Amino acid sequence: MSGGTARAPVAERFEAVVAGAGPAGAVAALTLARAGRRVLLVDDRIGGPEAAQLKVGETLPPAARPLLHDLGLWADFTADAHLRSTGTLACWGSPELHGRSHLFDPNGHGWHLDRRRFDASLRDAAVAAGAELRQATVVKYLAHGTDRRLFIRHEGLVEELHSPWVVDATGRRAVIGRGQAVRRRQDRLMAAFALFPHPAGSGRAADEELRTLVEAVPQGWWYTARIPAGRLVAHLTDADLTDPALRTPQGFLARAGRTRHLRTRLAGYAPPATAPRWTPAHGLRLTPPAGPGWIAAGDAALAFDPLSSQGILTALHTGARAGHTVDLCLRGTPEALSAYTTFLTRIADAYRDHHAHAYAQEHRWQAHPFWRRRSRLG
Ligand SMILES: Cc1cc2nc3c(=O)[nH]c(=O)nc-3n(C[C@H](O)[C@H](O)[C@H](O)COP(=O)(O)OP(=O)(O)OC[C@H]3O[C@@H](n4cnc5c(N)ncnc54)[C@H](O)[C@@H]3O)c2cc1C
Repeated sequence: MSGGTARAPVAERFEAVVAGAGPAGAVAALTLARAGRRVLLVDDRIGGPEAAQLKVGETLPPAARPLLHDLGLWADFTADAHLRSTGTLACWGSPELHGRSHLFDPNGHGWHLDRRRFDASLRDAAVAAGAELRQATVVKYLAHGTDRRLFIRHEGLVEELHSPWVVDATGRRAVIGRGQAVRRRQDRLMAAFALFPHPAGSGRAADEELRTLVEAVPQGWWYTARIPAGRLVAHLTDADLTDPALRTPQGFLARAGRTRHLRTRLAGYAPPATAPRWTPAHGLRLTPPAGPGWIAAGDAALAFDPLSSQGILTALHTGARAGHTVDLCLRGTPEALSAYTTFLTRIADAYRDHHAHAYAQEHRWQAHPFWRRRSRLG
């Protein structure tokens, strides 16, 4: 192994190792543990300073309700202090705001999550069901026929794990899948995001606007959503079109101030205390999403442009389905793998159509590269 690290002497055996303990990984581990499998859930960010950082991806649509019920997670979910999400307002295709309310949604309202709390609660459920949770980085996966080894590193020590199955739930990094299949990127979308905290001494109730606001601009688009800690604001654009001003809190505030509608949501909030963070936000697809001994779930298999607001829901769905598929394979039903691939293909096809349709609604800036590229993609 690289980097002069020592290797732990004992190779541990699990029936499945789940790499990544975001929503997809936690639910995959939960499903496997409930099926009675010896499962290890590994994540590199469950402790330490990175775990305390704001995690972007905060709005859960109403359709999550039946799934959370089915997974037996509803009671824990409602006990946490997530905010209601009542719909979306969009300035998209015209300068005016158009609304879509959850009022008539059969599942009721959605949620603006305390994302760290949400992810931790899913991990807790997996552990309560019997999964073993470990803080470590997955560094390598080697497969030769039925000899499958996963190497994880913690505090400089590399450990070798033997497991017939690994679930890649490492998000867009797809640490295992990228070596087993082809990753196709949809475009070069990036997000700069910042938290506008509640001003010191203010009551949270002051801002009662619980609808997400999306606003298209010539260089891309912005969105803002209320979250328990304040207001999350993000700017989406292509990697080669990024504005350097967005790297500082002052520049981010100034650029947000040029929007027509979004800026009005920031009244009464303190400016971001830290520099905005940048993260990839493009669609991504792993083909195939599974093979003998490995399966990808969540963003590792299929990541969406955040305009869809479907990433977490899809991570929960695919995580549960991946866990179930691994259990079936361990029971001697390998056909489950192709059913999983078909399931993901259906989701990917629907996403592609919705994405093309959504971007086709905006034609005010066709000369600008950001929109010109998307009209071609559509
Ligand atoms: C700007 C932006 C806004 C978004 N907004 C929304 C939204 O409003 N609603 C929505 O539904 N979705 C949204 N999303 C998408 C959503 O955040 C993701 O789809 C979701 O987090 C995917 O869950 P996951 O479990 O697949 O991956 P993740 O949540 O990314 O979890 C992956 C885990 O794997 C761990 N990991 C990675 N590599 C390793 C390794 N080598 N070893 C060990 N562990 C590892 C990571 O630390 C992490 O904990 C947004 C995304 C972006 C970029």
